[in-house]
This record gives sequence, C-alpha cells and structure tokens, in this order.
Amino acid sequence: MEKKYIISIDMGGTKILAGLINSEEGIIARVKNPTIAGGSQKEYIISLVKIINSLIKEAGIKSKNIKAVCLGIPGSLNPYSGVVGLAPNLGLKKFHVSEKLQEKIPFPVLIENDVNMGALGLKKFGIAKKAKNMLAVFIGTGIGGAIILDGKIYRGTSYAAGEIGHMIINREGPICGCGKKGCFEAVASRASIVRDILEDIKSNKKSIIKKLSFPNKPVKSRILSQAVKANDKLTIKHISKACEVIGQVLANVANLMNFDTIVLGGGLIEALDKFMLPIIKKSFNENVLKDIAKHVEIVSNDLGDDAALYGGIALAEEFLSIKV
Ligand SMILES: [Zn+2]
Repeated sequence: MEKKYIISIDMGGTKILAGLINSEEGIIARVKNPTIAGGSQKEYIISLVKIINSLIKEAGIKSKNIKAVCLGIPGSLNPYSGVVGLAPNLGLKKFHVSEKLQEKIPFPVLIENDVNMGALGLKKFGIAKKAKNMLAVFIGTGIGGAIILDGKIYRGTSYAAGEIGHMIINREGPICGCGKKGCFEAVASRASIVRDILEDIKSNKKSIIKKLSFPNKPVKSRILSQAVKANDKLTIKHISKACEVIGQVLANVANLMNFDTIVLGGGLIEALDKFMLPIIKKSFNENVLKDIAKHVEIVSNDLGDDAALYGGIALAEEFLSIKV
C-alpha cells in the first residue's frame, strides 16, 4: 500500500519547528529555524516553501506521498477559511495563508491554533490518549490553553476558545500583554515570574539568578530550573506562588468543565515539572470540588515540542478524512 505522510509546521514566536510525519513511523525528517521576526507575508510564504522542500528532500520521499501541510499558528484564525486574523508574536494580520501557500505547493494546506494543535497531538499520540474531556495548558512566555470535549477539539463560536491565559484573577494585578490588568498569564507565566524575581533583585534581595544570567542573558526556564536546584530562596518563592495560582485557576476551570485529564506543558513546566507539579496539585486539591477532583488527573506533556507536530495528523484526519 502507498505510504502517506503529512508535513506539520509549528510557527512559534521564537522558533519554527517542522516535521515530516505519519502515525506509523513518527517524525522521519525535521527542520528547526528561527522565526522570521517582522517578516512580510510574502517572506513567510517563501520560507514555508523552503522548509517544505527541504523536509521532502531530507526524507527522500516522493511528493505524491505528501497528503497535507498543517500549520500551527500562535494567534486567532479560522481553520475553515485558512485565514489568520491576528498573530501578534509573528507580526501577522489578515493573512490568507492557506490560499497563498496553496498557490506554491501541490498539497492541501490546513491551519490551526498552535495550542489546539499541541492538545490534538497529546490526545492522539501522547499522555492524554485515553482522555475524553481534557484541558491542555502550556506555560512559557505566556499561558495558552486548549479544550477537548468528547474527544474533539472545542474551538468555540469564533474559533478562539481556550484563552485561559486571559482569565482575570486579580483586578489590581500587573498589566497583561492584552492590555487588561491581572490576567492569569500576567501573574503566573515564566515571563511574569522572571519579572517579579528581577524586581526583587533590584530592591537588593539576594538571588543566584544574577550570577546565572550574568552579564545580560535572558532568564529562560533553564536558568530558573538551575536556580531551583541550587535552592535559591527567591526563585523558589516566586515559582511556588505562581504554582498556587495555577492550581487555583485549574480548579476553577475543572469545576466548570469536569475534565478527566489536565495536561500541563510549555517551557516552564518542561524544565521544572518535578518541582512544580506537586505544588500545583496541592493547590488544585485545596480549591476544587471533591467530586470533581476524584475523576481528574493532572499530568505533564510527554511529547515536548513535538506535540503540535503530531497534532497535524489529527487535523488532516479531521479536515481531509484521510488516515496518515
Ligand atoms: Zn491578558
């Protein structure tokens, strides 16, 4: 029988990950590129075509075996029309990406929100295989969420569902990237934790972070993890505080939705899940209704960055009714 593959491209805010993939063999070729920051729409299309061609070449397979190209995009979009409304981190708006890319390649192009694509990957190939009703939360620079109900992705009325990062949890809280005050991601994302640690360091609190990020390294999740391992009190304090908030928010959403599975992922969780998950679970259990708690499991992403690439397979099956 003829082998079928798809190409999945995860267009992140800092990097583009792409893979040539099918259910049986997994990822057989991959490409990692920096994001084309502030690139024009035309430049995006050119670089996507380059990535697609280099994957096909690397895998050494025939074009006719590629059945779809699936793009995971951080922003608002319509997966049915293939139009991106706004992807602020990529500097893109009103981008007819499916149509434009389709003009250059002989494969159908599908698009999906990157977090939804990650959740689909976890449901189909990862730790959430058995989940029926599931929430995925990715914690990094911001906080993204995706909902799966009765085994299917829940996109909402205008395909924007899952924006858990913008739940307002403290009216007096810090200003969020969205312009509102006290959003979940303005309080508990990696960027927010780092902001709070650096503020405390400025007012002369001691922390190893200063040394680890010397002279001017950005404080990424890996540095936070090193600081926790070195028992840095300030870092531990701020991460623990964020974990308590995360547990609370998850409890609120679980009370509303009665999920069976909550998967946590993203850079911060991947670097620190052994430290963070117990605190998150404790806070979750203190805040959630008992009957809801009994039926839900909180676990961490077991596919890492590849979750969204695997999600492309689910997308192709949904939109094109094919098995790859
Ligand atoms: Zn917000």
